[in-house]
Amino acid sequence: MTRIALYPGSFDPVTNGHIDILHQALALADKVVVAIGIHPGKSPLFSFEERVQLIHASARAEFSADEADRIEVISFSNLVIDTAREQRAAYLVRGLRDGTDLDYEMQMAGMNSTLEPEIRTVFLPASPNVRHITATLVRQIAKMGGEISAFVPNPVAEPLRSRARPDS
Ligand code: ADP
Repeated sequence: MTRIALYPGSFDPVTNGHIDILHQALALADKVVVAIGIHPGKSPLFSFEERVQLIHASARAEFSADEADRIEVISFSNLVIDTAREQRAAYLVRGLRDGTDLDYEMQMAGMNSTLEPEIRTVFLPASPNVRHITATLVRQIAKMGGEISAFVPNPVAEPLRSRARPDS
């Protein structure tokens, strides 16, 4: 039986924090489906296709070939739990950075387990070296010309610098 985990988020762009959680999820599940939320009305820095490409390139750079091959990337615009059901996921993976994440995530996990008791939410703790990273701050730093290479995988650094340049 193939154990599938769904890892939902914005991934705009994928950061070292996401990579840390993705790596932990690959140790638990046979396949991890990274689900990129598409919100009409929001304009992301990177298109869906670019985010997919950056996730795959980062996985190939950071993980073994076997691990990278067990990742699939999809988009979703409906409820996370419905997407998890469609993907036949056994687990819904969420990363926890701090108590604020925990408070919010506990509510989501409670609601989701009522909607679909068969899909278990799994909280994975951020590794200490990445727990301060948020994609929102990384985008802000890049837009203001700051150095972002400590926060994102190598394949993301250059596209992020050129995309976020104030004059672009
Ligand atoms: P962000 O909040 O950085 O924009 P997302 O909304 O895409 O990221 O979050 C997707 C998932 O990744 C969430 O479960 C979030 O808690 C987790 N995550 C994001 N950054 C980190 C990090 N630095 N460490 C651990 N988990 C993280």
